[in-house]
Amino acid sequence: MNKHLEELIELSKIDKAIDAFEPRIQEARAKLAEVEEQESAVEREILQLEEDIKDAELKKAKNDLHIQELIDKLEANKKKGAEAKTEKEIKALQLEEEIAKEQLDFANEEIERLENLIETRKAEIETKKAELEAIMEKSALLKEEIEKELAEIEKEKQELFKKKQELVSKMSQKILAFYDKIRRWAKNTAVVPVRKQACMGCFMKINDKTYAEVIKGEEITNCPHCGRILYLETEKEEANAE
Ligand SMILES: [Zn+2]
Repeated sequence: MNKHLEELIELSKIDKAIDAFEPRIQEARAKLAEVEEQESAVEREILQLEEDIKDAELKKAKNDLHIQELIDKLEANKKKGAEAKTEKEIKALQLEEEIAKEQLDFANEEIERLENLIETRKAEIETKKAELEAIMEKSALLKEEIEKELAEIEKEKQELFKKKQELVSKMSQKILAFYDKIRRWAKNTAVVPVRKQACMGCFMKINDKTYAEVIKGEEITNCPHCGRILYLETEKEEANAE
């Protein structure tokens, strides 16, 4: 096979392998973001529960104040009752007392309800905190794993860069420029195999003359339809591809 063609096939494989790292890196980072999102979702839930408690405490304080006011009022009513002279005055005071007692009952019930709510929210916070701890433990392990994976990817990438550098340094500038020009639009399919007499870049059938040239492999042959560089795979490569 033509030496330049051989080098181009090798170069395109290296470029393809280098580009293949990107989705692996993104996948690793997405995994990390997912765990971090899980963490902050639980943190937000805990904050909300704490807000609920603050709110309930505030309402409870207002009810306490109200209860004190009602007690004072009942106290005052008692004194007024002792001094009341007419039937009408006594009846009016009794009515006020009834209303105040009703309000007192209601305020006490409300406080009980709020206290129960606070207890429930506190228990929920404990559960959420345990959940958060478990998630953080899991994410610490995962982070370590992902960092290892990213380091591994980086190492493989550097090795490929080195290999590419070595290859490029001995290649013809003209051939490289030619390859780069096709690669600009064809990306990782600048150099493609021919299978069943079809270009594996545009999937169009190539004519017999071009096919014969590809089989010979003495020159660099371009697909007559799309312009990609064509080559004939070894049988082993073909088997792997299928
Ligand atoms: Zn083509």
